[in-house]
Amino acid sequence: MNVSGSPPSVPPMQPDSRVNLLGLTRAGLEAYCERLGSKPFRARQLMNWLYKRGCNRFEDMTDLAKDFRARLAAEASIELPQILRLQRASDGTCKWLLRADADQAYEMVYIPESDRGTLCISSQVGCALDCSFCSTAQQGFNRNLSTAELVGQVWLANRELGFQPGGDRIVTNVVLMGMGEPLANFRNVVPALHILLDDLGFDLSRRRVTLSTSGLVPQIYKLAQESNVALAVSLHAPDDALRSRLVPINRLHPIAELLEACWHYIDEQNGRSVTFEYVMLDAVNDSPEQARALAKRLAGHPAKVNLIPFNPFPGTPYRRSSDAVIERFRDQLLRGGVMATIRRTRGEDIDAACGQLVGQVIDRTVVRLGARVSAAQARDRTRVPL
Ligand code: SAH
Repeated sequence: MNVSGSPPSVPPMQPDSRVNLLGLTRAGLEAYCERLGSKPFRARQLMNWLYKRGCNRFEDMTDLAKDFRARLAAEASIELPQILRLQRASDGTCKWLLRADADQAYEMVYIPESDRGTLCISSQVGCALDCSFCSTAQQGFNRNLSTAELVGQVWLANRELGFQPGGDRIVTNVVLMGMGEPLANFRNVVPALHILLDDLGFDLSRRRVTLSTSGLVPQIYKLAQESNVALAVSLHAPDDALRSRLVPINRLHPIAELLEACWHYIDEQNGRSVTFEYVMLDAVNDSPEQARALAKRLAGHPAKVNLIPFNPFPGTPYRRSSDAVIERFRDQLLRGGVMATIRRTRGEDIDAACGQLVGQVIDRTVVRLGARVSAAQARDRTRVPL
C-alpha cells in the first residue's frame, strides 16, 4: 500500500474494501491517518467533521489538505446504514428499518420526551439467546452488527431528525436495547461505546448511554475493564427455576453469579446502580410472593428495578399483567427497600416497543443458544463459553 502523503498511484480499492471511518475510535483513526502518511492530529479534524458538524462527504472537509481528501475518498468511506422504511407512531416515536445485507435488516427506535431524546439501537441482526417472551428471539440469529453500523445508527438518527452543526443535540441518550445481545457482540460494541462517549465523538456522558444485557456474566466482568456506561440487566424472575425458563442463559449463569457480576461492575465503575429490567407477565412472574423474593435479593444493593409491561406479539403464549398488578408489584418492591419504576410503553402502534423489534432476519445459524445450553447440560453440566 502507498503510505506517502500523496494520492495513491494504484487504482482505488473496491468500495467494499474501503475502511468505514464510522467504525474507528479516536485511537483507530489516529493510527489510520498515520498509515495514510498523514499526521495523527488529522484524526481530530476528521472527528470534528464527522461528529460535531455531521458531515459525511470528504470533499466538504475543507480544512483537510486536498491530496489527503483525495486519498481518503479513494481508500476510506463514511458509509451510513441504508434506510428501508420509516414508521412514525402517534406518540412521536419513530422506527427505522435498516438494511444489513441483501435480505437482512435491523431496527432502531427514537423515543422523544420533553427533556431528552432516546435512541434505542440494535447490536445484532436477530438474537441467539432465545428468551421466550421476546419476539426478536423468534427470528433467530443472523450476524453481529459492525462498530460502523452501531455508530452509524446514532449518526443517521441525528441527521434524519434534523441535527444542525452547532445546534442542540437531538439524540441525548442511547440505549443498547434494540435487537440482539450487545455483550455477545463485545468486540464491536465496546469501540462503539468509546465513540459515543468520546468528547470528540458524540460526547455523551456515561450515564446517558445504557447497555442492556440478558446476563452474560464473563462479559460483564470484561466490560467493567473497558467501559463505564450504565448497565441494565434483564432479570425478569426472582428465582433460578423461573428465570431459566424465561431467559435460557440463566442455566449457564444463574442469578447469584449474575448479581455478583453486577455489584462488581458498580464497584469498579464507581457507578450509581444497576437497572434490573423485569417484564410483567400475567400469572408468571407477577405475584406478591415473587415481588417479596425479588426485593429480598436486591435490597441493600445498588439496584433499581424497571418494570416493563409485556408487549405481545403474534404467537406468544404470554399476556401482560394488569396495570393494577404492575402497580402493586412496584409498591411491594418499594416497601421492600428497592427503588422501582414502571416503564411507559412507547410506539406500540408501530411495533416499536420493547421486545417487538423483529427487523427482517433470515436465520442462518442452525443452533440457537437454547439448544446449546441443553447440550451443555447434557454434557455433565460443563460450562460452554459463549
Ligand atoms: N438482549 C438485551 C437487550 C435487548 S431487549 C437484553 O436482553 O437485555 C431490551 C429489553 O426488552 C430487555 O429487558 C428485554 O428482556 C425486554 N423485552 C423483550 N421482549 C419483551 C416484550 N415482549 N415485552 C416487553 N419487554 C420485552
